[in-house]
Amino acid sequence: MGVMTKTCTRKVAIYGKGGIGKSTTTQNTVAALAEMGKKVMVVGCDPKADSTRLLLGGLAQRTVLDTLREEGEDVDLCDIRKPGFCNTLCVESGGPEPGVGCAGRGIITSINMLEQLGAYEEDENLDYVFYDVLGDVVCGGFAMPIRDGKAQEIYIVCSGEMMAMYAANNICKGIVKFAEAGGVRLGGLICNSRKVDNEKEMIAEFAKRLGTQMIHFVPRDNDVQRAEINKKTVIDWNPQCAQADEYRTLATNIDSNERFVIPQPMAIEDLEKLLLDYGLLA
Ligand code: ADP
Ligand code: MG
Repeated sequence: MGVMTKTCTRKVAIYGKGGIGKSTTTQNTVAALAEMGKKVMVVGCDPKADSTRLLLGGLAQRTVLDTLREEGEDVDLCDIRKPGFCNTLCVESGGPEPGVGCAGRGIITSINMLEQLGAYEEDENLDYVFYDVLGDVVCGGFAMPIRDGKAQEIYIVCSGEMMAMYAANNICKGIVKFAEAGGVRLGGLICNSRKVDNEKEMIAEFAKRLGTQMIHFVPRDNDVQRAEINKKTVIDWNPQCAQADEYRTLATNIDSNERFVIPQPMAIEDLEKLLLDYGLLA
């Protein structure tokens, strides 16, 4: 006995259209995983740097790029990685000032920096790393987590709104491109409800057509906003409420997921037909 079991870190990237609920869903899911006893690091990959706010109780974390700008190259892990809710570890990549330079650069810089500082090493015993990445995988930096094999599994947040499904389909195209060389796979769609008619059925069907699954349907609930105003995840704010259980279910489904695929993006005509078919049922 006395044998230490080494933790195999699952590296997860969350993609989806801007405003769809990536950061909210990521942090709430991470809170649920942390509550289950998992050790999780979150790396915000959006220049908005709002991927860890709820885990940090509203603290606006100094980003990796800002830290490097202010301190030079000589930084420690604790300068860029802050402890959040339930022993989670929080990093914000940051970005250039608006309108200046490539917004994706922060991601590349911060992942390299984290690697250099040993944040992914085995003795860190991380169960999960979550990358919260803004929607656009077309531009270099944002594709980095999947392009360079930094993340192995992807979940796409979408809803039954046309633009969200369009974006999800495009992200699938990006995944296909990098899956062959890298080995990144799609783990499923997270439907973050916008209360569109027949949404659950439509996204389940959309997932099926893409060759994947709807890993969970997250209802739209004002408790998400109530928690947000209190600068907390739902689980932190009110562990007993129904929405907290939704995030627990999502976390459990991700934790037990074994279905990882190279997606088959839909032709635009087929996607539009899917929308029409389900829309007309209303
Ligand atoms: P993204 O990171 O994709 O840009 P956010 O996570 O910032 O999107 O979400 C945008 C807003 O949507 C948040 O302010 C949040 O309050 C709200 N929101 C997200 N998911 C839900 C939900 N399931 N129910 C209610 N509001 C939600
Ligand atoms: Mg966000």
